[in-house]
Amino acid sequence: MISKYYLWTVGCQMNKADSDKLAAGFDRMGLKATDRMERADIVVLNTCSVRQHAEDRAYSKLGRVRELKAEKPALKVALMGCMVGLKTDDLEKRFPHVDVFARPQQFDGILGLIESPHEDLGGEFWPSTYAIPEGPAAYVPVVHGCNKFCTYCIVPYRRGREKSRPLDEIVREVAYLTVHGVREVTLLGQTVEAYGHDLPDQPDLGDLMRALSALEKLHRIRFLTSYPKDMTHRILEAVAELPKVMECFSLPIQAGSDSVLDSMRRGYSRAEYTAKVTEVRGLMPDAGITTDIIVGYPGETDEDFEATCHLLEELRFDKVHVAAYSPRPGTIAFRKMEDDVPANVKADRLHRVEELEERISQEINLGYVGSSQQILIEGVRKEQPFGRTRTGKLVHLDAPARVGSLVDVRIAHAGPFSLRGAVEDSLALV
Ligand code: SF4
Repeated sequence: MISKYYLWTVGCQMNKADSDKLAAGFDRMGLKATDRMERADIVVLNTCSVRQHAEDRAYSKLGRVRELKAEKPALKVALMGCMVGLKTDDLEKRFPHVDVFARPQQFDGILGLIESPHEDLGGEFWPSTYAIPEGPAAYVPVVHGCNKFCTYCIVPYRRGREKSRPLDEIVREVAYLTVHGVREVTLLGQTVEAYGHDLPDQPDLGDLMRALSALEKLHRIRFLTSYPKDMTHRILEAVAELPKVMECFSLPIQAGSDSVLDSMRRGYSRAEYTAKVTEVRGLMPDAGITTDIIVGYPGETDEDFEATCHLLEELRFDKVHVAAYSPRPGTIAFRKMEDDVPANVKADRLHRVEELEERISQEINLGYVGSSQQILIEGVRKEQPFGRTRTGKLVHLDAPARVGSLVDVRIAHAGPFSLRGAVEDSLALV
């Protein structure tokens, strides 16, 4: 009899959302979660293969599961997520102790391991089984997969092509979440502005935001990750016009050199990307914009890298997520390009971007000091409440405040990674 499950998750918010969904299914079937693998009857490892480090962590967990299964042969084991491709022959040979290999959102095989009779949860997205929120902010996937095929990325092969959820189903889920205390949702997609193009009436992300804005108990709406070519003026106008939608953009560029962007098959030039940022700031001058950069991509010259640094100086992002390129099996770059930038050069470039980003972030954040910012209190860490501004800045509070409350905070201090301040509205204090 399977009664306890252990669910381990690594990777992006989409993986976290998948795990929350699976946990909701397990809970609905009467299973109980445990945070001790050795106490579980079923172990699910939800994996990521975007970086080697994430795969290494999964291999380490798989080693521990192998020992456990030797001691307890009835233990059921599932490997889920982006490490699982269309073909599983190789994985089956390497990990014979795994019972089921499941691609992202392919929950059926995992549920099939549970012998107890359970109701039909129905469909890929289990329309009527919603993840149980842990706090006032929740992630809601709205479009799965990606059609872009950037050369370095495994996502389209593992998560498949773009597939949008019906608009009314998303509204129902968010309404459910608000009844259970959620006040902010982050709409998720690998390229979130692709939402809706594959649905019968072709609603866009702006239409979805309008529909969600009508939910009374919902205070704030975020969305990520953005892709410049899918981000239409119509969507940007909706973001600017709708009071509940946060002026907060995660807009990866990856490189500042056209030849590298071309080689990555990103589908836009540096000038097109810059024009998109200009358009965002024209509509929302105070918008928070973060980006992603890969350094040391195959063929990246010193000049290419300098072009990236100049772009960061020019566009001044609120935050830069930077990673050194590492070839990922299964990608176009892995098959066709030589990983020819030496490791020490990659490390130097990574360090330089980190330094640059820290200086620029600090300068931007200092501009917040003295201002009043709307914050949703998301939780308490080390006895300090924390939340985010409408532009996505992390803020720590000096005094207790009620989790889930929307408060105005006067910013007193700024560091490169977060702000600190005090609540102006005493009604929100505990
Ligand atoms: S847009 Fe490119 S990097 Fe992003 S998920 Fe799609 S293929 Fe990967």
